[in-house]
Amino acid sequence: MAETMVAGVRQVQGPAWDLSDEYPSPQSPEVAAELDALSALLDTFAEHNEVIVAQIDVLPDLTPDTAESVLSGAAALYGASEEASRLLGNVLVYANCLLSVDANDEQAHALQGRLQGYQKRYAELAEPLSQFVELASDAVIERYLENPQVADCAFQVRHARKRRHEHLSLNEENLISGLSQDGVHAWGRLYSQLSSTLSCEVLVGNEPQNMGIAEANGLLQKPEEHVRRAAWQGINDAWETQEESCAAAINAIAGWRLELNRKRSKQQDVHFLDAPVHMNRIGRATLDALLEACEEKAPLARRAALAMARATGRERLGPWDMRAPAPVLSGTAEVIEFEDAVQLIAGAYAEVDPAMGEFVNMMVERRWIEGTVSSNKRPGAYCTGFAKSRNPRVYMTYTGSSSDVITLAHELGHAFHSWVMRDLSDSQRSYGMSLAETASTFGETTVRDALFNRAADAAGQFDILWEEVSALPSFMLNIPARYSFEKAFYEQRAERPLRPVELKKLMSDAWMQWYADSISEPDPMFWASKLHFYISGLSFYNFPYLFGYLFSMGVYLRREAMGVDFYPRYVALLRDTGRMTAEQLAETHLDVRLDDAQFWRTTIEALEPRVARFEALVDELVA
Ligand SMILES: [Zn+2]
Repeated sequence: MAETMVAGVRQVQGPAWDLSDEYPSPQSPEVAAELDALSALLDTFAEHNEVIVAQIDVLPDLTPDTAESVLSGAAALYGASEEASRLLGNVLVYANCLLSVDANDEQAHALQGRLQGYQKRYAELAEPLSQFVELASDAVIERYLENPQVADCAFQVRHARKRRHEHLSLNEENLISGLSQDGVHAWGRLYSQLSSTLSCEVLVGNEPQNMGIAEANGLLQKPEEHVRRAAWQGINDAWETQEESCAAAINAIAGWRLELNRKRSKQQDVHFLDAPVHMNRIGRATLDALLEACEEKAPLARRAALAMARATGRERLGPWDMRAPAPVLSGTAEVIEFEDAVQLIAGAYAEVDPAMGEFVNMMVERRWIEGTVSSNKRPGAYCTGFAKSRNPRVYMTYTGSSSDVITLAHELGHAFHSWVMRDLSDSQRSYGMSLAETASTFGETTVRDALFNRAADAAGQFDILWEEVSALPSFMLNIPARYSFEKAFYEQRAERPLRPVELKKLMSDAWMQWYADSISEPDPMFWASKLHFYISGLSFYNFPYLFGYLFSMGVYLRREAMGVDFYPRYVALLRDTGRMTAEQLAETHLDVRLDDAQFWRTTIEALEPRVARFEALVDELVA
């Protein structure tokens, strides 16, 4: 870091990251050699694939004895495919890191463009292996997994095969995926097109201003309530002009899935929640227990929403307040220099275990964090990692606000998660969305508590608590409202398509069911304005957020109860996120059952003191 600053002069912004231990440059011989190796490897796919493709029609009928050549071909393919995805992933991450820091990096653009061809080729060549994994009989698969070179992927393979009963014939499956491009995915693309070209009129002051939806969405984070309200109104008016198109799209997407499920129900009934639940590696009973506890404890989240409203001088929040920033109650916000932020985070992490503090310091010393301020940088923050070295990187723009400190703590949590898994095989390192935020939320909460304790006065504490407490209405009211809407919609869509007026009513009912008296009015156009309902590749992209939040809070809260036993069990839990279902993980490492509402209930109850503390602060500051 020393090179980037004048000796002895401290600065607020973060350091630049160092990528040179991966590759010297996008045009270097090292990158070229990597791509050559990848090409050569992909060439070997073809010959292994031949064995499988030749027997694809008889795959389900093969026995371990008659499948010998297929089994050795599949094992060879698995090894080659792991290696190829490592090479490809490494270069892809490199190009993406460069483009994040400088969107105009022409060499990186060229590299990324070249990689598209490799990605496409790899995806095509990997297809026969996934067909083998799906189509072969249980006996053949068990023989396949006995091979020590393959054994690592046992969990993934067995989990994927849980939905085997849904499979149609190979020809039918090919037909479906071929038609889906201009079928279900076309409706999703129509929505993206609408949302990127739609403009709306927002009353700024007394002047109506024309702007795109994205810009108006940005106004929803402004501190002035009247601006947020005007933006919300403008956005909803604009979507209302497109309500027939949106209704056609949402009805078609759901209709497509329901029809497909009907066709796939030959062996056993396929429910519209089966796919999303399977994808998140949880069971229906767990989802039900989660929602049950959440409904029971919704009054706590409503208390948080009411206290937030009171802090802004109002009785209730409006639907335009969902992303409102904390009202400024103190004169100036504290600026935290990057070095101080690192110290704070390392200190808070070290309280969990010294190894966690050392990890933070290592990330800084090895220059694996990008935190500079520059106009060429892409917005946002993420954590990524290089597949070959297994070394993580954290990307953000660090400007010194307390929310930047929280973001850094969050991304370092992701980095820690990948660090403790670095010796595992690739197939054991990928986990579902429901568990993806475990370490990040944990890191964030740890550091938020530390920030709270060091805040100079009540106003400083208020800023920290606002962010923390606002998570309750977001996760425990807003997300369940989306879930309730989507569930009711699918149930009714099974009978017939719904009219825009019915969709508005359904959405309003869902909002009022969850928010009740904590909101001034519902958000009837939310079914049209929210992208998540139009992602053609996956449905119910809502409950994983709620699960992730409460599961990680549940993990965090066990820290105190477990004392010195906590850290080793926490690391063991993180290491198993890619090779266990969420239920197995919780039972093995936390001694709790996720399909029992009690776990979720106690987790939510433990958040009560935080809400009470916030209420008391609001009373004190906003008399
Ligand atoms: Zn995250």
